Amino acid sequence: VAASATTAAILLMFSQRRSKSKRTLENKGGNRESGYAALIGNTPLIELTSLSRATECRVLAKVEYLNPGGTSKDRVALRMIQEAEKAGLLHPGSTVIEGTSGSTGIALASLCRARGYRCLIVMPDDQAAEKAHLLKQFGAEVEIVKPASIANPNHYCNRARARAEELGDEAVYMDQFETMANFRAHYEGTGPEMWEQVMAGYGARPDAFVMSAGTGGTLAGVSRAWKEREEKVQVFLVDPPGSSLYHKVKHGVCYSTAQRERGVRRHRYDSLAEGIGLDRLTANFRKARIDEAFHVPDQEAVDMAHFLLQAEGMFVGSSTAMNLVGCVRAARVLGPGHTVVTVLCDSGQRHLTRFWNRRVVEGAGLIWPETPPVNLNFLQ
Ligand code: PMP
Repeated sequence: VAASATTAAILLMFSQRRSKSKRTLENKGGNRESGYAALIGNTPLIELTSLSRATECRVLAKVEYLNPGGTSKDRVALRMIQEAEKAGLLHPGSTVIEGTSGSTGIALASLCRARGYRCLIVMPDDQAAEKAHLLKQFGAEVEIVKPASIANPNHYCNRARARAEELGDEAVYMDQFETMANFRAHYEGTGPEMWEQVMAGYGARPDAFVMSAGTGGTLAGVSRAWKEREEKVQVFLVDPPGSSLYHKVKHGVCYSTAQRERGVRRHRYDSLAEGIGLDRLTANFRKARIDEAFHVPDQEAVDMAHFLLQAEGMFVGSSTAMNLVGCVRAARVLGPGHTVVTVLCDSGQRHLTRFWNRRVVEGAGLIWPETPPVNLNFLQ
């Protein structure tokens, strides 16, 4: 049964890829594009058989790093640009401005290049260097700032907003954290696509969705789309060290100032995980419907990434590794026989200078696996 399900999934994956090359107009999720931008969305869904075997559940993953820009942020960038265009805010020569840990910036920079817009990206200096290099290759202007709290005017989002205000009507601040275009990209695109792929490929409804949050857009869009289809579906948030979201789900509030002063809360930038973790509630995150949350330590994410490379030959980034640890925990909560689904956010190729760099990992006080783990005993 497992073998035929795997074969069905592979066939589905290839048929999706084939149909993609014929498509010129109208994706689900509002992508009415031709040419390169039409490649955005409709990514394959695969089974991670090593994790299925280890958990006695079916662990499925949407391979969002096969979007042309290498992340699901392609969907969000396209949707934000399309909505700004429809609203008449963008013209040739306009400047698209965004505060981003990198992925959204790369997606925007590529689309801006093709559409004749300038692109200005503000990002913190603690992200893998390859992201800033890529942004510059795509022709974006890049402003790098020191990591700061959202209350600080030098936080990358505040700087981006200020730069847009300086430019006035020439510029549009995309604001991925607060705009519902982000939510819509996942509510109309990623969520329904995944649901249909699970149903068509495996003949079963998904039981759980597992995801970390950077803006909260994926979690919100997918959780809403799925719970409308099946209220009983369980949604698990995965939160890295230093982020406030786990605390919010468990206790109803983010960390308080008093907790921060007592050192209960670490700084969100203490984690090696990039693109995830929040120190505030964004409009996108507020829309998410979450049943349970897990805190995942960086060491487990490092071990999981090395395990997956050994077991599946897949080379994934830090937030993906966190999601996969979350899948195993969700499988343990639900018990054998359930279908647990997550997103593979980006490839390890975006992380060679940090998460996949032995010196950086050891410098963060973590252990670099001398030989890759062959089982999941490294998990708590
Ligand atoms: N992984 C990576 C690599 C990201 O860049 C992001 C978004 N910043 C996420 C995961 C989280 O996605 P979302 O913004 O939808 O919460």
